[in-house]
Amino acid sequence: MYCKNCGKEIDDNAVVCVNCGVATGNGTVAEKDNGGFGWGLLGCCIPIVGLVLFLVWKDNKPKTAKAAGIGAVVSVGLGILMYVIFFIIGFSGIAYY
Ligand SMILES: [Zn+2]
Repeated sequence: MYCKNCGKEIDDNAVVCVNCGVATGNGTVAEKDNGGFGWGLLGCCIPIVGLVLFLVWKDNKPKTAKAAGIGAVVSVGLGILMYVIFFIIGFSGIAYY
């Protein structure tokens, strides 16, 4: 590829131009978009935050957005599951009386 600033041919994977030192844009997005486990955990603890992060990042940081989104979905899914289990337990308890 060629440097956007000085036009010199540089390595495709170069983070900065070897000629003028201007950032190429390589690495900056990929570096942060690591699908971090922490974001999944955050989405799991606070589903609404996970959902918002998913919507904000789905274009620029798909992996991280997916991690946060999955965390939120898992959290909501577990919440519904717990509700259903408690409902069934409660219902069968009443039925025995
Ligand atoms: Zn350059």
